[in-house]
Amino acid sequence: AVKIGVLALQGAFIEHIHVLGRIENVTAVQIRTPAEVNDPTLDALIIPGGESTTMGLVAERSGIVEPLRLWAHQGVKPVWGTCAGMILLANSALQMKIGGQPLLGGLDVCVDRNHFGAQLQSFEMPVSIPVLGEEPFQAVFIRAPVIVSHKPNVTVIAKLEKKNADDEHERIIAARQSNLLATAFHPELTGDSRFHRYFVEMVRTSKLARQQTASS
Ligand code: GLN
Repeated sequence: AVKIGVLALQGAFIEHIHVLGRIENVTAVQIRTPAEVNDPTLDALIIPGGESTTMGLVAERSGIVEPLRLWAHQGVKPVWGTCAGMILLANSALQMKIGGQPLLGGLDVCVDRNHFGAQLQSFEMPVSIPVLGEEPFQAVFIRAPVIVSHKPNVTVIAKLEKKNADDEHERIIAARQSNLLATAFHPELTGDSRFHRYFVEMVRTSKLARQQTASS
C-alpha cells in the first residue's frame, strides 16, 4: 500500500482525497503542518488547485514552505501539482506576485498564470492524453495556467493547439519531470480517476525503487 498526502491549506484538497479513496491500496491523508510533511511513512504529495498566492501565504504562515521545497527539489518521492499546485512547482512564471519569485519550484518550466483570462475563466473540454489510453480525458480548467516553455528534462504529457500557427508559446497542460507531475486542469473534479491512477503508479514505482536501494 502507498500513503499519499494532500496539502490541505486551501483549495480543492477534499476532492483529491475522495478520488484517491476509490483506488485500491491507497491511503490518503490531509497535510497541514511541517511534521506531517516530514512524516517518513508518506510516499507522495499532491499540491491541489486553489489560489496560488493565498496558498503560498498560508504555507508561509504554517512554516511548511521549506519542507515542501525540499520534497520538490530532492525528487525522491513523487509530487503532483494541479493548477495552483502546478504554479507553485514551476521554476518561473510570467505573472508571479509572490515576492517576485516562485514559492517552491523544482519543475523546469515557465507557467503563464490565468492563461485563459477573465473572459474565459472556467471551461471543460476533452483532451487527448496518450499515457492514459485512447479515450479522451475531460479536462476541467478553472482560471487555469499553462506551461509556455520548458527545459529538455521535462516530458510533455498533453498540450493544447497553439492559438495561432505563429504563436511562439507552447500551451502545455500536463507535464512530467521524473518524480514531479503537473496538470493545469483539475482531474479531481471529474468522475474519471485515470489521472490519479497514473500518479499512484508513479508512487508505487518510486516506492519500490527506494525499497530496492535500501535493501541492496
Ligand atoms: N488562477 C489560480 C492561481 O493563480 C489557479 C486556479 C486554480 O487552481 N484553479 O493560483
